[in-house]
Amino acid sequence: MTAIPQSCDVLIIGGGPAGSSAATHLAQAGIDVVLLERSVFPRNQVGESLIPHIWKFSDMTGVSEKIEQEGFLAKAGGITVWNDKIHQILFSDFGYTRPGLHVERDIFDDILLKHAGCRGARVFNEVSVRAADFSDSQGTKIAYTDKRGHSNLEGAIRCQYVIDASGHSSFLANQFKVRQTISTRFNFLSLWGYYENSRFVGVDRKSYASEALATVKPVTFVMSFEDGWVWHIVLRGKTSVGLIVPTGRTKGMGRQQREEFFKHTCEHLPHLNKLLEPAKFIEGSLQYRPDYSYYSKNVCGENYYCIGDAAAFVDPIFSHGVQNAFYNAAAATLAIKESLKNPKQRFRYSQLCESRMQQFYGFSRALSLGDFGCNGVNPALVKSLMKSLPPLELELILAASEMTSRSENFRLLAREAGVLGRFDDNFSGQKRAPVAALEF
Ligand SMILES: Cc1cc2nc3c(=O)[nH]c(=O)nc-3n(C[C@H](O)[C@H](O)[C@H](O)COP(=O)(O)OP(=O)(O)OC[C@H]3O[C@@H](n4cnc5c(N)ncnc54)[C@H](O)[C@@H]3O)c2cc1C
Repeated sequence: MTAIPQSCDVLIIGGGPAGSSAATHLAQAGIDVVLLERSVFPRNQVGESLIPHIWKFSDMTGVSEKIEQEGFLAKAGGITVWNDKIHQILFSDFGYTRPGLHVERDIFDDILLKHAGCRGARVFNEVSVRAADFSDSQGTKIAYTDKRGHSNLEGAIRCQYVIDASGHSSFLANQFKVRQTISTRFNFLSLWGYYENSRFVGVDRKSYASEALATVKPVTFVMSFEDGWVWHIVLRGKTSVGLIVPTGRTKGMGRQQREEFFKHTCEHLPHLNKLLEPAKFIEGSLQYRPDYSYYSKNVCGENYYCIGDAAAFVDPIFSHGVQNAFYNAAAATLAIKESLKNPKQRFRYSQLCESRMQQFYGFSRALSLGDFGCNGVNPALVKSLMKSLPPLELELILAASEMTSRSENFRLLAREAGVLGRFDDNFSGQKRAPVAALEF
């Protein structure tokens, strides 16, 4: 068993997409980076629909080829049925030459973490971080429990910088007590599970038996109902189905009742019931995430950076989570690389990064949550990001913002920022028009 070193330049907590890509960025720059991950990989994770934006980040870390070789399902776009209106987006209509993906996240995350190791990061699984002590002038002291080989050994490692990529457990935000819940109107939870042999929605808006995946490109299917929404993401060999509902809907329910509620809701919703007609629920696959939309007042400091879900999380309606994680990892590691070169400027770099990350989270929140005015989004930051986005990405996001009733404030900001005018010639026709019908 490899010994965990006693010191390093950068210590990363968590080996999900945020932590593993941060580790790769740093290791590629020759920085001594240690990553501690409490689970054994591959480990279970939700969030299987990826938008094509991820490729630019996977190119930067050099992992694109490994992702391609795995043969994940390439998705052509998305279809939403929101308040009974049907919209479709196809990435190719916008000029994207690479697809979105439907990935089994245990496999996808494992590829990323192994890649970090290949690039020189020292990765330790089954090591859980317990506390971070920033008071020591010798460097930050990270206390951990090493559970490898059924042991339970306590240890500590010193570092110059800590990256918290611990996902929804928000390790540092909780330690600093800066984690906030987003507005009461958006107190949602998610329930998701897996079905075998579901039909899937194809690029031509027809539904197909799973065998047709060999010849027909799938899309992600999203649908609103009463006070919630549902996703249907076909994978290789199973289909991920998830419900997002207000927390009150499952109040007081035990595991068994939640499962019955989940199955009953999914199997009685229009459209979805047709897709699930031949399908069988995989017993024991139901999972539950109650602590849902949150953010942190501070995500960066002189010697720490919180990235990915450790910093903030919004309703995943636009499949933004992994892209956010990659973006934050790139921004934080750039700031750390510059700080290592020029330590006197470390506070300045951290504040620049803070503003970038809050801008990105604000953008995602404005897009995903109708009640955008609520706690702490800075409209000026969101508008400046809109203005600086590559036209390809901006146009796709603007089209996506038409697909649900969640993004009214986002479109208002886009108008104020003057970015809608850029698409006068193209941004009105087919690409965002509601489509007539589904042929399930
Ligand atoms: C219901 C739901 C649906 C979603 N759907 C999508 C989607 O379709 N598309 C999309 O892009 N995103 C989606 N997301 C979001 C996406 O899953 C996350 O944004 C993404 O996983 C964030 O990556 P991360 O690296 O920040 O965190 P994670 O992937 O959660 O990784 C964090 C890691 O840190 C480890 N860790 C935690 N605490 C410690 C500790 N103390 N010590 C050591 N290790 C620790 C954990 O074991 C874990 O492996 C969804 C999320 C939810 C909840």
